Amino acid sequence: MDFEWTEEQKMIKANARDFLEREIAPVVDEYERKGPMSKEDAVGFIKQLIPFGYYLGALPEEYGGSSLDHKTEGLLFEELSRVWVSLTGLVFIARGLPHTLVHLGTDDQRERFLSRALAVEILGCGAITEPNAGSDAASIETTAVLDGDHYVINGTKTWISNGSIADVATVVAVTDKEKGRAGMSQIMVEKEVSPFGVRELHKLGQRAFPTAELSFMDCRVPKENLLGEPGLGYQRTMVRFEAARSLLALMAVGVSQAAIDAAIKYAQERKQFGRPIGSFQMIQEMIADMIAATQASRLLAYWALDLIDKGERCRWQSSLAKSFATERAVEVTSKAIQIHGAMGLSDEYPVERYFRDARTMTIPDGATQIQKLIIGREVVGIRAFV
Ligand SMILES: Cc1cc2nc3c(=O)[nH]c(=O)nc-3n(C[C@H](O)[C@H](O)[C@H](O)COP(=O)(O)OP(=O)(O)OC[C@H]3O[C@@H](n4cnc5c(N)ncnc54)[C@H](O)[C@@H]3O)c2cc1C
Repeated sequence: MDFEWTEEQKMIKANARDFLEREIAPVVDEYERKGPMSKEDAVGFIKQLIPFGYYLGALPEEYGGSSLDHKTEGLLFEELSRVWVSLTGLVFIARGLPHTLVHLGTDDQRERFLSRALAVEILGCGAITEPNAGSDAASIETTAVLDGDHYVINGTKTWISNGSIADVATVVAVTDKEKGRAGMSQIMVEKEVSPFGVRELHKLGQRAFPTAELSFMDCRVPKENLLGEPGLGYQRTMVRFEAARSLLALMAVGVSQAAIDAAIKYAQERKQFGRPIGSFQMIQEMIADMIAATQASRLLAYWALDLIDKGERCRWQSSLAKSFATERAVEVTSKAIQIHGAMGLSDEYPVERYFRDARTMTIPDGATQIQKLIIGREVVGIRAFV
């Protein structure tokens, strides 16, 4: 077991941190106050981040990347989340489109979409959740019925990250009702060609990271937009979740680290009873607990990513990392508020945002309870849910 980053990884991390603190950190408050980001702003930020390995870094060189492994990508996402987790979420979701096209797309799909996705001319989102299908993703009701050369899609998707700025939504829909989970497929819906309705949703945290409801009413999509074989939509979605959950854990770690850094600084500067509050043992205890929770989360997340890099599945390890890191981030950011006293509740300090952002992370990509049921299913060998 090696806990040391390579020289290259250290350089990637240092370059990213330097840029993020210099160019991104100063604008975070302004954009968080504005709410869900516009496509133009999102594209601008993604283009700024590309040279550091975000968005395309994990792709092979021929597509503008440098074949970064999952751990190195995790390192980049952790650094960005320490500065602005809304932007991490946005880039993470947007990166799904070029990655999906490279790994799963047909020649025709790559021909039509890939160069525009690589150039950040079009943005993507992934639409699974529905008003009646959240944790129980297998119960989705959206249908895609083949009619000549087109699929006709009907249904509503909700809580879709980047939904309001996406040009291409990869929609999971039922293509064969008789087959249950094996009857679900992924279909790329290009908004300009196959228009769908969009309603922006506003949330507690990560406010600059757009989330939307998408509605499809007799939405006709060329049948060539089916991703891979019909019926693989559910299975693919579940495999993709393992990397997503491990990376989401690192987003929580980034936020927790930011809260720790802010709490230490405040504890050193703020004086009460004639001494810095950082000299009080109960403040030091809170900081020690925050570090323990964050470092344990970090190790779990990189462990899961290491398994993926070795070509192994990490079904329960990624669920453990995601549930542990996001729940700990809620506690760590709450303690950071406590250390700041009343100022911790004010938007003049960043810790109230860290708390709201952390609170937003225990639900997406499988809520904490579902992650625990997955861990239970994998280690006990009995399903607590269907
Ligand atoms: C910020 C954010 C971004 C998101 N982005 C996307 C996206 O890009 N694409 C997408 O498709 N979806 C997205 N989602 C949706 C997300 O995946 C769902 O919110 C999540 O799966 C939970 O579903 P739900 O909200 O309907 O909660 P429900 O499933 O209704 O759950 C409500 C509560 O019941 C608990 N619960 C449910 N079933 C069980 C059980 N069997 N045992 C014990 N407890 C249970 C849950 O843990 C939760 O606490 C996003 C959500 C958020 C908040």
